[in-house]
Amino acid sequence: MADKETDRSKQLSTLAVRTGHHRTAEQEHSEPLFMTSSFVFDNAEQAAARFSYAEPGNVYSRFTNPTVQAFEERLAVMEGGDACMATSSGMAAIMTVCLATLKAGDHVVAAKAMFGATKVLFDQLLAKFDVDITFVDMTDLSAWQEAMQTNTRLVFFETPTNPLMEIADIQSISDIAHQYNSEILVVVDNCFCTPVLQRPLSLGADIVIHSATKLIDGQGRCIGGAIVASRELVDDCLFPFMRTAGPSLSPFNAWVFLKGLETLSLRVNHSSDNALQLAQWLEQQVGIERVYYPSLDSHPQQALANKQQSKGGSIVSFVLSGGQEAAWQLINNTKLLSITANLGDAKTTITHPATTTHARWSEQDKLEAGIVPGLVRISVGLEAIEDIQEDLRF
Ligand SMILES: *Cc1c(COP(=O)(O)O)cnc(C)c1O
Repeated sequence: MADKETDRSKQLSTLAVRTGHHRTAEQEHSEPLFMTSSFVFDNAEQAAARFSYAEPGNVYSRFTNPTVQAFEERLAVMEGGDACMATSSGMAAIMTVCLATLKAGDHVVAAKAMFGATKVLFDQLLAKFDVDITFVDMTDLSAWQEAMQTNTRLVFFETPTNPLMEIADIQSISDIAHQYNSEILVVVDNCFCTPVLQRPLSLGADIVIHSATKLIDGQGRCIGGAIVASRELVDDCLFPFMRTAGPSLSPFNAWVFLKGLETLSLRVNHSSDNALQLAQWLEQQVGIERVYYPSLDSHPQQALANKQQSKGGSIVSFVLSGGQEAAWQLINNTKLLSITANLGDAKTTITHPATTTHARWSEQDKLEAGIVPGLVRISVGLEAIEDIQEDLRF
């Protein structure tokens, strides 16, 4: 939990390098890594005061750790939120929000198109605790409206979605939920855009989720996640859960992410520019049926994307008319691109969703969702765009 005062009036790129570090008596310039599981007390009285929160301060790194707090404070400020709580993975962030805010008998409205593990968590894990879920087509505002119930507690979506780059209208969905019941918490997984391109809290959302594993790390090293929310929600609801249940972020990973935030703006803007160029170039190639990228003129929600995101993001998907055979051939012919399902890396990655990330879905579900055999997803990195294009031979 980050407490100290930060000048929030500065621009994002300044906040990303300057906030969160509270210099120690050693006068270090770079952010220190506090690789310690516990903290010592001056005497028994202080130990008792720290444990009871009568005196603020560190006790044990499952609860708080200064390096983790530096990362939390920096990300909170960048998202325009009061407070942040880091978690051991992106999924741990989602689980923490669910288990800390929901009880048996509650209801969740979520988008149909979501990260695979998130969908399984909602569908199978929450169901075991008697939490009821309604999945909606997230581009249909009337479906969100109709799904609200008196016991609805959470609304959850990602935008843009993986891999088809559909856009959810953050402001309108937040308004629908809050007008129905001001107590409903609107949760946005902002992993694909990061605060560099999109700030959901400024559009009415209550909670932002991150998989820091992706663009925040940006170099494919560490697993981690974060939740940005109001001070009240973090202190009264999320932190007590974390302290007791323990999906805490390791200080080492927090330190890597803290340094990742410093270059986030440069990396996300550059990979987005690369991705737009790649998407426009792909539209000109023979053998490509369709390209999915938010800021393309051919994207049905281009206006909404341009309104809520400053750029299209790093992910481009496209459908080859030759189906799976053509998709696999394209993937197998690459020499530079990495064949892996991770995304948001400095290295460009290429994936065949139908047989990897979405392989567990039924044929029917895949086809309905547009995960066709000819679909290829590219997470564009920081290489020269000419070299990425040259590696894709059609
Ligand atoms: C990867 C991902 C997650 C899960 O994050 P982990 O760090 O792998 O647990 C959640 N949401 C989205 C959109 C993701 O891409």
